[in-house]
Amino acid sequence: MNLEIVTIGDELLLGFTIDTNAAHLAREFAALGVRIVQRTTCGDDADAIAQAVREALERTGAVITTGGLGPTADDMTKPAIASIFGKGMVLNAEVLANLEQRWLTRFGHALPVSNRQQAMVPDGCTILPNRHGSAPGIWLEDDRGRWVVMLPGVPREMRGMLADTVVPYLRDRLPTDGPVIRSRTLRTANIAESALADRLGELARGVNGLPLAFLPGNDGVDLRLTSWSRPSRDAEAALTQAAALVREKVGRFIYGEGDDDLAALMLAECAMRGLTIAVAESCTGGMLGQRLTAIPGSSRTVQGGVIAYANEVKTRELDVPAEAIAEHGAVSDVVACAMAAGVRRRFGTGIGIGITGIAGPDGGTPDKPVGTVWVAVDVDGDVHAVRALLPGNRFEIRYRAAQLALDRLRRAFAREAGQDSVGWTSRG
Ligand code: AMP
Ligand code: MG
Repeated sequence: MNLEIVTIGDELLLGFTIDTNAAHLAREFAALGVRIVQRTTCGDDADAIAQAVREALERTGAVITTGGLGPTADDMTKPAIASIFGKGMVLNAEVLANLEQRWLTRFGHALPVSNRQQAMVPDGCTILPNRHGSAPGIWLEDDRGRWVVMLPGVPREMRGMLADTVVPYLRDRLPTDGPVIRSRTLRTANIAESALADRLGELARGVNGLPLAFLPGNDGVDLRLTSWSRPSRDAEAALTQAAALVREKVGRFIYGEGDDDLAALMLAECAMRGLTIAVAESCTGGMLGQRLTAIPGSSRTVQGGVIAYANEVKTRELDVPAEAIAEHGAVSDVVACAMAAGVRRRFGTGIGIGITGIAGPDGGTPDKPVGTVWVAVDVDGDVHAVRALLPGNRFEIRYRAAQLALDRLRRAFAREAGQDSVGWTSRG
């Protein structure tokens, strides 16, 4: 089944409100097997709404709108769409009674006159009850079976009504075991998109007929496989098989699936091994500590850290030898290793992590350009450091340095398990 989305509101066109409704609808419908073929956004203008919905109906015969169902003058979705269907507006007694009841119980007074408008609905429509707010949704269908569902703009209400009524209703209309759209995401860290593509070879262009999308972000490159037209069970099987093929080629760069967070995964791993963590951060200024302590239950594993920005702090709080800094520079493997080892010793933890680098925009040299980062991980006295040249602006370099540190910890665990030892500078 094909469907179009029309989101309505001047605030969307002006960019003051991000259109999260369209994104949410698209994801929910993909899971149902409904394909969103086009999305349109229009302002709070009756003609614009009517035109956008009319065109969408002509293309697909199935449209969902959000927004413009409220009680104010800029809410004109219902009459605009009723006009396309050649319908007038009528007062719905049941909706009015519900609104009056709602106002009395919730606010203790009578329904304001402006809210009576919410009880005006297109003649012959089906009312979709709204348990999450005051404006009911509207289902309008013509004798050719073309339909429009109007949902409120407030995201919480829209999501609630979608789950309560629209999805169950559509599910009944769709063939059981019909085709669905399913995706699986494999999350990689600290490998460039092009390097991934090289390693994947033929698979980069699709795996067993499933398209493979490369989605680079600050966490790394996500690899997303999508099955577009298989029934649910076949889709899952095809995705599992394809994911296994991808893992065969680039498995050691993959840290998780779906929306897995590397910090959460590493904390779980540490907890399982009975290891505690302390962090020594220079260029990241606490970002790694922030990532780790954002995870509920992190207090069992995270002991603390030092933001060792100034060289004196590295020496005074972490015992990094001043001579090492003078000889190798603050951004060096020697200093990163000394930071990791120092913080581990000072905090009495199993794991120490040291990060030092140049986040820019100033401070780069030909030798150590902006983005140069050294990360060291000390696991029970076994210290390893790695150098990376991270791309991006100041925020991105700092964020990626923290992610690199987490990934180095992951690699340290993997290496212990005998899985990987590439790309490391050992100073054990
Ligand atoms: P409305 O139903 O048009 O009165 O919208 C109510 C509120 O919902 C607006 O003020 C926006 O903050 C929010 N909203 C409307 N449309 C969207 C959308 N497509 N995505 C996210 N928020 C929205
Ligand atoms: Mg609006």
